[in-house]
Amino acid sequence: TSARPFNFSAGPAVLPEPVLHRVAAEMLDWHGSGMSVMEMSHRGKEFGSILEAAERDLRELLAVPANFRVLFMQGGGLGENAIVPLNLSRGGKVDVVVTGSWSRKSAAEARRYADVQIAADIGSGHKIPTDWALRDDAAYVHVCTNETIDGVEFHAMPELPNGVPLVADVSSHVLSRPIDWRRVGLAFGGAQKNIGPAGLTLVFVRDDLLGRALDICPSAFNYETVAANQSMFNTPPTFAIYVAGLVFQWIKGLEYGGKQGLAAIEQRNIDKAALLYGALDASGFYENRVDASCRSRMNVPFFLKDDKLNEAFLAEAKAAGLLQLKGHKSVGGMRASLYNAMPLEGVQALVGFMKDFEARHG
Ligand code: PMP
Repeated sequence: TSARPFNFSAGPAVLPEPVLHRVAAEMLDWHGSGMSVMEMSHRGKEFGSILEAAERDLRELLAVPANFRVLFMQGGGLGENAIVPLNLSRGGKVDVVVTGSWSRKSAAEARRYADVQIAADIGSGHKIPTDWALRDDAAYVHVCTNETIDGVEFHAMPELPNGVPLVADVSSHVLSRPIDWRRVGLAFGGAQKNIGPAGLTLVFVRDDLLGRALDICPSAFNYETVAANQSMFNTPPTFAIYVAGLVFQWIKGLEYGGKQGLAAIEQRNIDKAALLYGALDASGFYENRVDASCRSRMNVPFFLKDDKLNEAFLAEAKAAGLLQLKGHKSVGGMRASLYNAMPLEGVQALVGFMKDFEARHG
């Protein structure tokens, strides 16, 4: 166990401690090269081997089919909100399922390039709507499969009835569970929650969707161009890719509950979330409002029923070594993000603190 505090940030977020130690140890001299990874040409053989290993391990962990390209890009989740319609919409129709703040933002950005229709909208509710108004001639359907702010997660990749490609923003739960690639045309995610440092964006794109970009699409954001150049059309975020590669190795080696790799991480995430939701539901002092069918394993927003206690809660939590629990400003209250690198002990410490705080203030 660690002497560091437990960090519940929604992102950039906690990284596995062994990875941080390894990065520190290799900072001045990567594998006898005499260079930090930050100082290497992206076209040299050293970085080439780092990128190759990262892609291989990522493909293995997520069982990415051969007809998907894996792109290591810049731009972040909000960048992809423009890059996806520039590449896939052909200026035509895009259907968006709004399940929270991030998919709402995606719809607004796509309107600059496409005829956007909201196929369903969670509104101020807390349950993913099941009735979707989909257009058969849409270029794609956009969903955000884990809403980081609202704490709403799809526990199965939606299956579209009409064969239209599904685009999934997986930023805040990628690598926390398997992805059902049969249902996906494209998935994208920023790295800064479950994967590594900010600045790296992963894109998984089915190869039949390449080559559809609008003329105005910047070359550095054209998926076909990026894919044809093995993510080296422009300089990729090399250091972030290196750290991500170490995180992939860490996940591959992880054992938990008799499982290994992604299955182990998923089981640990299930157990962490069950522990926290169980404590919230058993208490009359705290509450989580999301429907049980779609509660996020990664981001758990919760409220103190007496919100006058919020500041005391945050100050005492920090003093107890529990960091960054403040809820998103649009929602208020608290939010505990339980990404892959958060150990079970961190959630046990949080739940213990919450019970203690309730006993003292309840
Ligand atoms: N989508 C989701 C689901 C997110 O959680 C975030 C970041 N919190 C974004 C998109 C935006 O990412 P970025 O700030 O990297 O553009």
